[in-house]
Amino acid sequence: MSRSPSLPDRPRLDIDPEMSDAERFEAIRKHHERLVQVNRELGDRLTEARGRRDELTDDVDRLMRRNETLKTSSLYVATVEELVDGEAVIRQHGNNQEVLTDVEGRLAERIEAGDRVAVDDSFSVQRLLDDETDARAQAMEVEADPDVSYTDIGGIDEQIREVREAVEDPLDNPERFVKVGVEPPAGVLLHGPPGTGKTMLAKAVANETDATFIKMAGSELVRKFIGEGSRLVRDLFDLAGEREPAVIFIDEIDAIASKRTDSKTSGDAEVQRTMMQLLSEMDGFDERGEVRIMAATNRFDMLDEAILRPGRFDRLIEVPDPGEEGRAQILQIHARDMSVADDVDFDALAGELDGYSGADIAALATEAGMFAIRDDRTTVAEADFRDAVEKLEDAGEGATDEVPGVTDYRY
Ligand code: ATP
Repeated sequence: MSRSPSLPDRPRLDIDPEMSDAERFEAIRKHHERLVQVNRELGDRLTEARGRRDELTDDVDRLMRRNETLKTSSLYVATVEELVDGEAVIRQHGNNQEVLTDVEGRLAERIEAGDRVAVDDSFSVQRLLDDETDARAQAMEVEADPDVSYTDIGGIDEQIREVREAVEDPLDNPERFVKVGVEPPAGVLLHGPPGTGKTMLAKAVANETDATFIKMAGSELVRKFIGEGSRLVRDLFDLAGEREPAVIFIDEIDAIASKRTDSKTSGDAEVQRTMMQLLSEMDGFDERGEVRIMAATNRFDMLDEAILRPGRFDRLIEVPDPGEEGRAQILQIHARDMSVADDVDFDALAGELDGYSGADIAALATEAGMFAIRDDRTTVAEADFRDAVEKLEDAGEGATDEVPGVTDYRY
């Protein structure tokens, strides 16, 4: 913790009664000069102190948020098998362990055999869960007609081309693959830093092929749906079958398909089961069907090689942070619906945004618009973009390692 810098001494004025008027005037003039100088120094210190106070407030906010997250422990999902005199026999999902546990009075009145409940580490029933269809709905994001098109994605033309070839062609012209006698890639894995447009790519290809977009986040399966991962993966493929043509998109696949560790906690076993289910769904999959499988990760280095074998995620497409030209394109895409002054030089701006991801640039454009609104203007000027850069960088966003949670990515 840095200590406050020492403050300048308070100026003193000693007037000798023997002084002549001229000497007294000179002493008072010097004293005044010194007062002005000390005032300036104190002003600077105050500004510094305010800056430091804001930094500390941000730190406190961040720590409080982290503390809250740490305090909220996960709950496990179980099914109530039987109810006997205020006690319940529950079967935990995932490991099928049966446990006899107390049910607190108010809950006991609402619970029936067959209900799904959330239990804590000591198997005490914490709450009644909605029925299964709700869990399915919560775990998956289904969009019949996603509203992203290739023209909304900047700076990754080569990746768009590869995705179209690997996903769009087999959906649009499956017979071509049959005629030529080649199998299209079974699964397409997009890997690269956060916020580079991987989800957009998957949505755009679903849009282009009039396919339903079905997304499941690996991290949520592990965090929110403990004990249900493998069932939800099965549901995911069933739902895609019902909604053909469909694009399945598993975001953050590293959460369920990372390299095996030596640790043997029940959580790891659960993750393993979820991954095995995914592998078996993919293995039993007809590659020429009307369902295409895509996944994304920011942690390619963590992935278990089993999921990269032929017939599984066998087409890898790297989606990097955009280069200068790409950044200019992304800026233009995000500014195209904004009323922007004619003289805004996107190329020059893009040159200064080294290390910005697409998501950072989207945030930048919104922030620039906010500056114009605050200033009561209807047109966004170049100065607004520059103010936005400054603001985002002060806030630790955009191109720095300060972004919470981003530091440990290998990209
Ligand atoms: P994550 O790994 O964090 O899930 P992602 O790579 O899937 O990130 P997206 O969700 O596709 O990133 O992008 C987030 C947002 O950032 C988009 O909604 C869009 O506004 C903007 N964005 C990211 N990349 C691009 C891009 N290449 N072109 C235009 N906008 C982009």
